Amino acid sequence: MDTPDRPSGALHSTIYGPNARRINRDARFDRSGPAGSRRWPVRAALMLAAGAALGLAAPAMADPGQPPLTAQTSSSGGPLHPEQEKLRFDSADLAFEIFPEREAIAGKATLRFTAKAPVSTLVVDLDRNLPVSAIAIDGKPLPRDAWSNPEGRMTIRLGKTVAQGRRVTATITYGGTPHVAVRAPWDGGFVWSRTADGKPFVATAVQMEGCDLFWPCIDYPTYEPATIDLHITVPAGLKAPSNGVLQGVETLADGRTTWNWRVANPTLYGIALNIGPYEELSGTYRSRFGNAIPMFYWYLPGPGMEAKARALFAEFAPTLDFFESVIGPYPFGDQKLGVVETPHKGMEHQTINAYGNHYAKTPWGFDDLFQHEFAHEWFANQLTASNWDDFWLHEGTGSYMQPLYGRWREGEGVYTAMMLQSRAGIRARSPIVTGRPQSAEDVYEDENGRGGDIYSKGSWVLHTLRNLIGDKAFFDAIRLAVYGRTDPRPGNFKPLYRTTPEFIGFVKQTTGTDYQWFFDVYLYEAALPKLVQERDGDRLSLSWKTPGDKPFPMPVEVSVDGVVTRVAMPGGRATLTVPEGAHVVLDPWSRILKQSDNIDALQAYRAEQMRRAQ
Ligand SMILES: [Zn+2]
Repeated sequence: MDTPDRPSGALHSTIYGPNARRINRDARFDRSGPAGSRRWPVRAALMLAAGAALGLAAPAMADPGQPPLTAQTSSSGGPLHPEQEKLRFDSADLAFEIFPEREAIAGKATLRFTAKAPVSTLVVDLDRNLPVSAIAIDGKPLPRDAWSNPEGRMTIRLGKTVAQGRRVTATITYGGTPHVAVRAPWDGGFVWSRTADGKPFVATAVQMEGCDLFWPCIDYPTYEPATIDLHITVPAGLKAPSNGVLQGVETLADGRTTWNWRVANPTLYGIALNIGPYEELSGTYRSRFGNAIPMFYWYLPGPGMEAKARALFAEFAPTLDFFESVIGPYPFGDQKLGVVETPHKGMEHQTINAYGNHYAKTPWGFDDLFQHEFAHEWFANQLTASNWDDFWLHEGTGSYMQPLYGRWREGEGVYTAMMLQSRAGIRARSPIVTGRPQSAEDVYEDENGRGGDIYSKGSWVLHTLRNLIGDKAFFDAIRLAVYGRTDPRPGNFKPLYRTTPEFIGFVKQTTGTDYQWFFDVYLYEAALPKLVQERDGDRLSLSWKTPGDKPFPMPVEVSVDGVVTRVAMPGGRATLTVPEGAHVVLDPWSRILKQSDNIDALQAYRAEQMRRAQ
């Protein structure tokens, strides 16, 4: 999802002038699509907490008007139940009826599992605010006392033992009033909104709490099924764009419509419902890899909205150009590139990215929120973190793609400006990786700002790494992490789960050098390395100070009277001769993430301002 500390485009457009686009957006695709004329409210921009400007993760908020979530439901990716470890989640068929007038849903989920060990009990996560009315196992209804769901983790007694290697299918009928997001996407659930003319405008976003907020699942990152079929029934006149490929739309006798979708290899929190009186823009992107990728944008119509929607849609192809050139093939080209306008700001829903940035402008000439969420198709949906402790593999990489795209479009100046913009948000008070299993909540609820740091510090770690090892080794390591190979082509890879140690291993593989020292300091320590300099006559001494005095032989560029040289730092120190009185600037291109007195002073100043404002 989006970083909570992204400054508004308006803020920096007062500093930087508009920039020209240099990319031919029309060379690779054509587009077509109808457009309507309904107006929708310019919804107040999502309130970002004042603390967010400092890079603090958004705090959890409770709504006293709805039943509380259990600890089990509000957490995602927590420890698996031992019975869940015996299951492979093969596929799901999810039918939803959506009732916007009473903000309720009815669901019927058919979940197919293979037993990896004998099982007589199915344990499935589902918010207890959605009561279950019936369960059938392999088509046979269970008695009402065969299941219970006291805590959001439902235990279903099968009445038989499923042998190892055999399949079992559970059909679960449930429904009720799903949890409402207080502040989507940082607090998850349903968003029941309205257009200006009163039509329902509904979305889901459940990254923090997980799939079990609205469908029964095993809420753990590595339990992605191979396919999910979705059947979404909505009131007449509304559309329901969703994940994967549209299989067809049926009109029911009462005028409602059912939208049938099929998605392959979905990320669990990437499954999303989106309902509204959408108009559709569509086109085809002709990939450098030879395949044709269908592109769609569903937007809310209104005066002036079609032009804005078309302008955003026109960014899809050049953004694909960047990712396919620099990283590799769009992972879901055989399904679609989909974006849908939402009442909330954004979320990386697989092949149906949520967009609620109100067509904001930036000095970089592209919509950085759209670009960020789209980056997650590679870094979240193709490469999925094995555990939320590795969340920076989604958000650090996802955040680094905006400066890299600025560089791709306009060069090093824009790249560096974008990097420096995010630097002030780094808190460096908690390590961004702990080496222990973590829930999504654990990562974001840390008051020391780990949630924000997985974005900004993660991005700066990659920036520093790329400058250290060079583009070839860096992007090959990224491709090994994303695709499992350095020569990805459509059809020769599958979505992967990745850990931080695996990523570190890929860097070793592409460089032939062990950079464990780099990651030990940047990922597993809170405080940033400090570059200490001392000048004595014509001697300039440099040394790195790190937490626990960990080794840190990071070379440093030094500018002496405008002449830049790269100084090796074996043992974390170096001494060089510079003319007395010469003007010295260390790391003049800001290529290294390191402690900064300036940033510390800025953060202290902002914290003081916040205290006064309270
Ligand atoms: Zn994100």
